Amino acid sequence: MRILSVASEVYPLIKTGGLADVAGALPPALARRGIEVRTLMPGYPQVLAKLAEPRVVHEYPSLLGVPARLLEAELAGLSLIVLDSPALYDRDGGHYGDRAGRDHPDNWRRFGALGRAAVDVAMGHVPGFVPDVVHAHDWQAGLAPAYLRYWGIPRPSVMTIHNIAFQGGFPASVFGQLELPPQAFALDGVEFHGGVGYLKAGLASASAITTVSPTYAEEIKTPGYGMGLHGLIAARSNVLHGIVNGIDTEVWNPETDPLLAAPFSAKKLQGRAANRAAVEKRFGLHADGSPLFVLVSRLTWQKGIDLLAWITRQDIVEAGHRLAVLGSGDSQLEATFLALAAQHPGRVGFIIGYDEPLSHLMQGGGDAMLIPSRFEPCGLTQLYGLRYGCVPIVAHTGGLADTVIDANLAALNAGAATGFQFTPVDAAPLAGAIRRATGLMRDKDAWTAIQRQGMRSDVSWDRSAAAYADLYASLVPGGSA
Ligand code: ADP
Repeated sequence: MRILSVASEVYPLIKTGGLADVAGALPPALARRGIEVRTLMPGYPQVLAKLAEPRVVHEYPSLLGVPARLLEAELAGLSLIVLDSPALYDRDGGHYGDRAGRDHPDNWRRFGALGRAAVDVAMGHVPGFVPDVVHAHDWQAGLAPAYLRYWGIPRPSVMTIHNIAFQGGFPASVFGQLELPPQAFALDGVEFHGGVGYLKAGLASASAITTVSPTYAEEIKTPGYGMGLHGLIAARSNVLHGIVNGIDTEVWNPETDPLLAAPFSAKKLQGRAANRAAVEKRFGLHADGSPLFVLVSRLTWQKGIDLLAWITRQDIVEAGHRLAVLGSGDSQLEATFLALAAQHPGRVGFIIGYDEPLSHLMQGGGDAMLIPSRFEPCGLTQLYGLRYGCVPIVAHTGGLADTVIDANLAALNAGAATGFQFTPVDAAPLAGAIRRATGLMRDKDAWTAIQRQGMRSDVSWDRSAAAYADLYASLVPGGSA
């Protein structure tokens, strides 16, 4: 089976969000299952600079009005098809906007061209590669399924939502330049609130839709999570799938992780003590053996950080526990945690910033990882926590709900529990989950069993790749890897 993956960001070449992780990790995981993936992405200058000896495989005198060409290259274990068009991608600022944060005014053309090029690849414009399925990631690739549909090209497509907040909406005036037939500007086509919606176009046109967890797939059918697309998603729920992301289990391996103070494993958890001591030192916490809660996160409303701030004094400090927070974001939340750390030295530590090595140490040394997100399409932090025996305490939402097994009585008796969930996402239920966790920590055997069960969870990309492979196979007549 051959897949054309279309994405604006691909790790390790370019990343601003989780989409890049999936677009970068899925192809090698699928290759291990005998599925060939080529990845079509924009030729951002940073990407072009990394290509060694690219081959020109197709030239466009005009692609949606600008010259362009398709380059083929192998890089970072990926087979890339790069849409090279300086007119589209060589510019100041970020990938999507200028330095002042304004969207590039021709984003409709920059990413319309990406979708349009995907269809050319699907039609065989790249010698030796005709994909069985076109897999479009997020709004930047959203027109690809629409071109396939409206140009009548018999190739199934998958539209994956990584972040439904970004939808790629443009004025109706761009429609005439997209080379789509007039009937595409319709309620069940690319039209969205009087304009053109790229994510909407993909969702309306794709053979199948996926998002990054089964619970988030359910949530986005509702107004509270669907960001205006809930009606369409609900209407297409018969082709909607939730597939949880994986993590790089080689980078995140507590037995070999060079960023840890000491290695450890599910069998030999003793090494965690040295990591805990290192965390205590970095955060200036008392080494008193009390429960150590950790949080590694962007400090934003989405992440429910304010809920933790609300309960820190009573339910962490006065309860005799400790808290180490690593993150940056909203200045008000940063100020709140600076104040909490100043008020409770030795019990609350706060480091502002993004610090990958420290995050490994915290996963390796913390007793429990707090994740009180208001919404979380998939979430990675809890997967790292599971793998490192840092028991996740999570809000019951999105991928958090799907990846952590709550330590209720039945799960404990069955030996299945891997963490704690709380709902609704509010301060009191979060405090309740912390109390449940510290209650269980007093029973060392029970706590160790939860840690070990978490460390046995399959959080690898292989599991996700198997689900994508099944989905692709279901779309291709007689399809199998
Ligand atoms: P989101 O993508 O919404 O921020 P995820 O849980 O999916 O949330 O992924 C966040 C990733 O970034 C995780 O790997 C987390 O460990 C990491 N991270 C977030 N904040 C920090 C930080 N301050 N320092 C180091 N790593 C961080």
